[in-house]
Amino acid sequence: MGKLLFWLALVALAFLAMKLAAISQRKREAAQREGAAPGAQPTGARSGASARRAGELAGEMMVQCEHCGVFLPASDAFVDGGHSFCDRAHRDAHRARQPRR
Ligand SMILES: [Zn+2]
Repeated sequence: MGKLLFWLALVALAFLAMKLAAISQRKREAAQREGAAPGAQPTGARSGASARRAGELAGEMMVQCEHCGVFLPASDAFVDGGHSFCDRAHRDAHRARQPRR
């Protein structure tokens, strides 16, 4: 009886693992589809929210430089006041453009 329960649990676990894998793969495919879509990069309108969303979809935490728009890993970014930058110079340039914060 114990053995039967063991096998049942094993099958249930395997089923669950397969289901989870399928879900995560579907998510990854959806992310790739959205990420691969030729993004109409609106000049001037830099949305931090969309950049953060794109980073989440990529799986890795990617952020977009508020100054030049390049994507980079969050660990390499200079973060200042909720904004991310690829470079200290870009952070300073962006900060200089802001009225005062
Ligand atoms: Zn930059």
